[in-house]
Amino acid sequence: DFVTRVNVNNVLKNTLVLAEIRANGTDVVFKNDLAPVLPEVMANEEQLRQVFLNVLINAIQAVDRKGNIIISSYYEECSGRVRISFTDTGPGIESENIKKLFDPFFTTRANGTGLGLSVANHLMLSWNGVILVESKVNHGSTFTLVFPAVKG
Ligand code: ADP
Repeated sequence: DFVTRVNVNNVLKNTLVLAEIRANGTDVVFKNDLAPVLPEVMANEEQLRQVFLNVLINAIQAVDRKGNIIISSYYEECSGRVRISFTDTGPGIESENIKKLFDPFFTTRANGTGLGLSVANHLMLSWNGVILVESKVNHGSTFTLVFPAVKG
């Protein structure tokens, strides 16, 4: 569980390769919009890969074989924060469910465990980050992970 400096763009690129394999044979289109220069963040790289993969697999399931998924990273200089977002063109999330998303065992899927976002949220908090969600029913969802940037 040890925490080191992590290059988020590298982890995103590795995760995207896995997500593309997962979406193979479907009409899911991924778009990468990574910041050319991004400060590092403090996290456990293996766990961060799991968090990204979880959010990406949720997005793949949401678009249900046809849609777009945009992955972006961005350095917000004024706040000193790194923002990573995953936007999908899926069905969106009802406001009633938004409140429950990070509860352990909350799932709307027949074979879901409801643990992915709960674990992601705990890990983000342990790294002094947060995970945010914005969603519009019939339009899609954006999950954003915010980290303090490592200075220097
Ligand atoms: P699971 O994937 O096992 O259901 P998660 O904790 O990863 O568990 O997700 C919980 C629930 O949040 C999902 O069942 C789904 O209802 C909702 N959800 C997560 N991501 C999305 C998304 N991108 N679009 C729509 N709903 C989502």
